[in-house]
Amino acid sequence: MTTPAEPWVEVLVDCPGLQSLFTYAIPAGLSVAPGDVLRVPLGSRTVGGIAIQARQQLPPEVNPEQVRPVTEVLSSQFFPAGYWALLSQLANYYQTPLIQVVRAALPPGLLRQAQRRIRLCALADADADALPPAARQLWDYLRQQPQGDYSWRHLQQKLPQAAAGLRVLLRQGWVESYWSQPDPPKPQFRQVATLVSSPEDKLTPQQQRVVDVLGHHGGVLEVTALKQAAQVSDAPLKRLATKGYLVIQAQETLRTGQNAGHRDQPKPLTPAQQRAVLAIQAAGRGPLLLHGVTGSGKTEVYLQALAPVLARGQAGLVLVPEIGLTPQLTDRFRARFGSQVLVYHSGLADGERYDTWRLALAGRPVVLIGTRSAVLVPLPNLGLIILDEEHDSSFKQEQPAPCYHARTVATWRAEEANCPLILGTATPSLETWEALRPTDRYLELPERIPPRPLPPVTVVDMRRELQVGNFSLFSRTLAEQLTSLPQQGHQAILFVPRRGFSSFVSCRSCGYVLGCPRCDTSLTYHQHSAGEGLHCHYCGWRQTQPDHCPQCESPYFKHFGCGTQRVVEALERHHPQLRVLRFDSDTTQTKDGHRKLLTAFAEGKADVLVGTQMLTKGLDLPRVTLVGILAADGLLHLGDYRAQERAFQLFVQVAGRAGRAEAPGHVILQTYTPDHPLLPYLLAYDYPGFMAQEAAGRQVLGYPPHGRLILLRLT
Ligand code: ADP
Ligand code: ZN
Ligand code: ZN
Repeated sequence: MTTPAEPWVEVLVDCPGLQSLFTYAIPAGLSVAPGDVLRVPLGSRTVGGIAIQARQQLPPEVNPEQVRPVTEVLSSQFFPAGYWALLSQLANYYQTPLIQVVRAALPPGLLRQAQRRIRLCALADADADALPPAARQLWDYLRQQPQGDYSWRHLQQKLPQAAAGLRVLLRQGWVESYWSQPDPPKPQFRQVATLVSSPEDKLTPQQQRVVDVLGHHGGVLEVTALKQAAQVSDAPLKRLATKGYLVIQAQETLRTGQNAGHRDQPKPLTPAQQRAVLAIQAAGRGPLLLHGVTGSGKTEVYLQALAPVLARGQAGLVLVPEIGLTPQLTDRFRARFGSQVLVYHSGLADGERYDTWRLALAGRPVVLIGTRSAVLVPLPNLGLIILDEEHDSSFKQEQPAPCYHARTVATWRAEEANCPLILGTATPSLETWEALRPTDRYLELPERIPPRPLPPVTVVDMRRELQVGNFSLFSRTLAEQLTSLPQQGHQAILFVPRRGFSSFVSCRSCGYVLGCPRCDTSLTYHQHSAGEGLHCHYCGWRQTQPDHCPQCESPYFKHFGCGTQRVVEALERHHPQLRVLRFDSDTTQTKDGHRKLLTAFAEGKADVLVGTQMLTKGLDLPRVTLVGILAADGLLHLGDYRAQERAFQLFVQVAGRAGRAEAPGHVILQTYTPDHPLLPYLLAYDYPGFMAQEAAGRQVLGYPPHGRLILLRLT
């Protein structure tokens, strides 16, 4: 008998609520590797589990006498090579227990949904007469069928003593038990109509409507949608089909998402796009920065960089910041790659998440689009990673554990998979900028398509408004522009920084912002049972809130706050003629809530969209000509060393929402600190200039990327 090199194994048992790993002994003759799917005893039951780590030694607090052996290995090499190394690297780097990483990475119920099956292995006639009755019964049952292969659940239902019988047969080696994936989701089909040639003879009005609607949708549409849009029954469709103008086919739909209604074709690339795509193809492994303003054609570059990857049979991973952004982007990927596109995020139902995860694991050429946790989905044969809006802070997971930054994990994955990682953005993070801008891995798309100037920015001094007696949330300039919107058929976006973000204290009269006397970070307003107080989030300084401005003695010295709801109320009061939609975490909670709101706005059902950070991203709304940034101060004075960078990025992003079509756009930024050093860079859209001065500031203080910070939280 051989003794395994590492006699102990830590197992994640499939029992929700259990937070720690359990240690089991590896019986002699059995080999267990990380990622293997096991059966292990737990109390009086046997449950599924995943081997996490083999151990040379038992933890000191564990008594070897009490360690039970692994019952069996159900499946090995279920996960792709390197996957467990990635999870361990994450656990190590972020000093997080591996079990928490594993829980974040695997879909809920992975083991429960899988099936244990039993099959005969000795087909030669064994001496069954000597078997005890329970085993004999099971043996006979299994042998009724030539393959002798049943799900364990089925056997337990049929034979009351199946468990006792199985123990004997397993020991004899006459049967084996294995782990099988549940059947892939049953394909669902739906009818799709495709226009195959343009009708030449005369059509009835109904038939004409069908042809028109189809033409409108690129020639392909689901039959039910088509009938609804054209307001016809089946008859005209059938007529068109018999005449050979139309083909009606069943097409598969997956639980993992809808097929796109139509396919779009790759666009001929601009020279800048062309250069980018070629550079990506030649890049080899590791990160590239794709820097292009909103509307400069980054998404088209992603699509064309992915096409050859899929053609080679490899998979692509596309990471996006928030779900609000996903619908429009996802639609474009689906339009290009159809059902090869999988979507993965925590808003999916467990079943969808599980299906998607399993499909990804199957190693087929798919594009997996997801939010940060998708970086942990196993994709064997990964050929390209794209991280869109790379500067976005939502790639960072803070709560619950594991804390990780999806951008960092993506670089490891690209390294491991030996593939490029495209970091795309209109506003690169300082880290990425400093690392890649000086290299040949910096790719720029300098112009919008078609070329249009970026909208000019007007800075409005809100202190002046106060002086002339305007106490409303809207400056006179903004109010004027809002009033003239509907006549011109234009739309506006009003951007209000997220509540809770704007909790610094400032003077409405002179713009003075109260900073920490020890470290100069903006102090943050807190309300608690003991009353109000101001805290410094960096050094822990605390003080009470002064009644008057220390600089000008003005009594208008308050913490700052201006939520979307207040803005909507103010609009209703001052501009009752405007139709307003609110877009924030309250109004977009339902599944598809984002999409519905954005679609309503895009269809012109409102004149003004009032929203938080969420609406700065991924929107292509051609009728928007005006962008108002209310309470810009809420961003300029955050208690965070990245505050300036974040503010600048947000302003550039939100400004990019204006004037994306024919009509030129305009941005109005309202502030109590119009001489803030950041604003000249914004007015000139001078990204390199801003980055240079920001980097200089960080260097002095040793902040990232010129130093590293570790957050240790003791609770
Ligand atoms: P970004 O992702 O940088 O915001 P998009 O890829 O969305 O930019 O491109 C902006 C618009 O320009 C989209 O409507 C897109 O269809 C169009 N577009 C992109 N590339 C081209 C191209 N090479 N030729 C024509 N139109 C293009
Ligand atoms: Zn003041
Ligand atoms: Zn301080």
